[in-house]
Amino acid sequence: MKYDLIVIGSGPGGYIAAIRAAQLGSKVAIIEKYSTLGGTCLNVGCIPSKALLDSSHHYYDAVNHFEEHGISVEKPSFDFGKMVARKANVVETTTGGIKYLMDKNNIEVYEGLGSFEDATHVKITKNDGAEEVIEGTNIIIATGSKPSSLPFITIDKERVITSTEALKLPEVPKHLLVIGGGVIGLELGSVYKRLGAEVTVIEFMPAITPTMDKDVSKELTKVLKKQGMKINTSHGVTSVERNGDEVVVKATNKKGEEVTFTGDYCLVSVGRRPYTEGLALEKAGVKVTERGMVEVNDHLQTNVSNIYAIGDVVRGAMLAHKAEEEGVVVAEYLAGQKPHIDYNLIPGIVYTWPEVAAVGKTEQELKDAGVDYKSGKFSMRALGRSRASGDLDGFVKVLADKNTDEVLGVHMVGARVADLIMEAAVAMEYRASAEDLARICHGHPTYSEAVKEAAKAAWDGKPLNA
Ligand code: FAD
Repeated sequence: MKYDLIVIGSGPGGYIAAIRAAQLGSKVAIIEKYSTLGGTCLNVGCIPSKALLDSSHHYYDAVNHFEEHGISVEKPSFDFGKMVARKANVVETTTGGIKYLMDKNNIEVYEGLGSFEDATHVKITKNDGAEEVIEGTNIIIATGSKPSSLPFITIDKERVITSTEALKLPEVPKHLLVIGGGVIGLELGSVYKRLGAEVTVIEFMPAITPTMDKDVSKELTKVLKKQGMKINTSHGVTSVERNGDEVVVKATNKKGEEVTFTGDYCLVSVGRRPYTEGLALEKAGVKVTERGMVEVNDHLQTNVSNIYAIGDVVRGAMLAHKAEEEGVVVAEYLAGQKPHIDYNLIPGIVYTWPEVAAVGKTEQELKDAGVDYKSGKFSMRALGRSRASGDLDGFVKVLADKNTDEVLGVHMVGARVADLIMEAAVAMEYRASAEDLARICHGHPTYSEAVKEAAKAAWDGKPLNA
């Protein structure tokens, strides 16, 4: 069988690339080694984690916040099995939706492991061992990533686990140790903290979410500690040992002392690595970097001119929406269009509560680049909307160029900022000034008023409600 485009991997990068190419008139095939489509994001990433975050949030509110709203519920309780089953149902419906989209766009779906025969032929090895070779004028590698670990840790998938197992544990841990205070560790740590587990985060860097703006990390640390999470930064883990139903983690702190943590589960969330195993890239002559990423140029083209790569398997943020944008870009580029992505404007979001969201440059990045910038900050606490809902933690910070007033970065902690950040991204896409943002009429009462106020603070130093 011959196709205009073969996509290997059906995550958000792959399936979106396939749809866009089909929309633009290509004959497309997609290969997925698992029986469900949607990749990490839909099966063991974004969607199931958000389903559990939402369920646990409802329970947490019932226990901690209903009372202040005058609602009494006798003694809130939960059925963890039901929560996990609901999550599985959400995943099933969502992945089923991708199958529908493939059919609607006449995209041929092949189930099996895709591996290169040469630069234009891909072999599909099915579960029963049957093989089939298909031909593609162009091929996109969208094989994503897998959880990474530390060399001395044995992931037994029972007690020493990755995010994949953390999404389907048989019980709520009594004490969950989380190695790595990045997005995934904090989100899954939040789920179990809300459900009553003791949660201890052990982070190597001096701050959690270490790549985000320092103010954001500081505020998030404060809020998560208030919720009872124990956060240990500047702790380098040296060993992880399983002792029956116990997991013992040893780490060295800033002073060089050895610290021991004991829990019943240990989530290793120290990042993810690009996944190219089984692809036989060498048969097509595709180059990877020392760290295993597929090497691409600005058009996401590999060193082999008809082979492209997108998403987690290439450089850049490991995020579903980044993978999707890259999928669209390659499909449009192949159709002769001139698409482009502004990597500076890919929002980063943490779905803790309050949520965290950012777009553009951090203060540190501006300082390092020698940019003359100004900053405006507005506290969520000062908003009528926040007082109404009781979500008082957090702030919005707008960073703007001191000379031109152009918005260069926006950082937020607060209720629903995962959605709020898009206002900042749109403004920055159109190269708005802080004054532009400040002069836009924002609905009242909304959390978005904090954006207007922070922008005004950055522009003229005079927020109205502070
Ligand atoms: P993937 O989604 O990893 O898909 C790759 C697909 O390729 C897989 O289905 C795999 O089975 C298949 N494959 C691999 N090799 C082959 C082969 N040889 N043949 C056939 N098929 C193959 N990102 C966000 O933006 N927002 C979030 O809220 C978010 N939450 C997350 C929570 C968790 C717990 C995790 C783990 C990740 C989260 N992410 C989130 C990250 C997001 O899931 C990834 O960035 C995204 O899935 C990357 O998409 P992709 O298309 O590059 O690869």
